[in-house]
Amino acid sequence: MFYQSTRNNKIMVSPSEAVIRGIADDGGLYMFSSNKDIGVDLEKIIKLNYFDMAKTILLKLLPDYTEEEMEKMVHDAYTDKFETDDITPTVKVGNKYVLELFRGPTSAFKDVALSMLPQLLTFAVRKNGTEDDIVILTATSGDTGKAALEGFKDVEGTKIIVFYPENGVSDVQKAQMITQEGKNVAVCAVKGNFDDAQTGVKIIFGNQDNEKLSETFGARLSSANSINIGRLAPQVVYYFKSYSDLALSGEITLGDKVNFCVPTGNFGDVLAGYIALLMGLPVGKLIVASNANNVLTDFFENGEYNKNRPFLKTISPSMDILISSNLERLLYLATDCNSEEVAGYMKDLSETGKYKVSEEVFSKIKSVFEAEFCDDSETVKTIGKYYNDYGYLVDTHTAVALASYDKYVEETGDNTPAVVLSTASPYKFCGAVARGIGLSEGETEFETMEKLFERTGVPVPAGLSGLNEKKVLHTKSIEKAEMEDYVLSKVSEKVWKN
Ligand SMILES: *Cc1c(COP(=O)(O)O)cnc(C)c1O
Repeated sequence: MFYQSTRNNKIMVSPSEAVIRGIADDGGLYMFSSNKDIGVDLEKIIKLNYFDMAKTILLKLLPDYTEEEMEKMVHDAYTDKFETDDITPTVKVGNKYVLELFRGPTSAFKDVALSMLPQLLTFAVRKNGTEDDIVILTATSGDTGKAALEGFKDVEGTKIIVFYPENGVSDVQKAQMITQEGKNVAVCAVKGNFDDAQTGVKIIFGNQDNEKLSETFGARLSSANSINIGRLAPQVVYYFKSYSDLALSGEITLGDKVNFCVPTGNFGDVLAGYIALLMGLPVGKLIVASNANNVLTDFFENGEYNKNRPFLKTISPSMDILISSNLERLLYLATDCNSEEVAGYMKDLSETGKYKVSEEVFSKIKSVFEAEFCDDSETVKTIGKYYNDYGYLVDTHTAVALASYDKYVEETGDNTPAVVLSTASPYKFCGAVARGIGLSEGETEFETMEKLFERTGVPVPAGLSGLNEKKVLHTKSIEKAEMEDYVLSKVSEKVWKN
């Protein structure tokens, strides 16, 4: 099996090369060329534990890794890092199920993929014959940076530099990053907003040549971006795991269809659900849940993707996004790998900010996907409703998905068993969660966290409690124009000291 660029299917690379490259030279995303070899035996796979399930699924999607390699990578990625042995538990809440993806080290679902990516990347690099250090550059608006730091921390042969906007992240998110331990990590504030930091990183990737860096410093730059297939593939696993939990506990019978509702930003998480379906998981509908930035809701309503609209800041910030990059992969699959057609849509998007898919593609997509959205006031109300009715505390992103699913059922009457994906701990978004359950906020986010705990008794995740008393290890703050020099000086240092 090989991977092709969604914009030119003559560009072909092996799975591990796709992990190394991240994005194709023509700006397309790497996607598998055919789904005829990725099917799994459902009856067998649901009996496996998370680790063996992950190994089986990842070997199907990334078959140029060996079985021994995959076993070691999965072991190193997930052992002793998550709160629960089953990594992603599914719990029953009212008449739905909630798939808790936030039990990892940083309490956000990105941990599941970012624990695995460093493993996939280092093995891929060695496979393709280089001994260079891989230096990961990431700009973050909050969650990704911390999850990437934890994922790459002390992974042999890698280093990571995270840039965050000085005044653009929450107190908790900032505290999580500036107290980061590890001998291969650097965290640096940029005087500007997230776009400044992100643009700065893109400029560095554009200017620097990996062959030269390799010769001069024995190092190469790479990215932990969410369009890397090495981040997408590990997310397929928990769809199977959740289905397995329901089937083994007798909540469903093997073969029954299950709907999944996914709080969506860049479209990676929900696309992983579609890949699970292609691999043979009995998925009914995939419901794409958005906040007030509802560009996807409109797309699934009428087949036109139109980003020409105001960007809204909401209380579910990880879904504040107007270009959902991974949607391009769905278009590729829905056009039967017609890269010319996809390239046309993407050209329209970059030139006019919009595109409309053909009737054929739209009806194919609509046979699986539905979409709903909810605004901030509905989100806060939903947090209160689920806490009052079921004693279950959810974060703002999960609340968007719960409310969206309730709307979907109201409109369709669909009574298929439903799993709602929960993407963050409520303690990551304390202010809005407190308001949701009718609690007044404290002076600081940390005070609110304490109050939330006193009121609800829901344990504060280990990575978040006592964070404000941890030693600050990263204090550097620079102008955006200084980012490239900073990266070069770090790359030239063989051993980092914080
Ligand atoms: C990143 C993120 C999302 C969106 O996931 P996508 O894969 O980008 O669609 C949703 N919720 C939380 C908490 C996130 O961090």
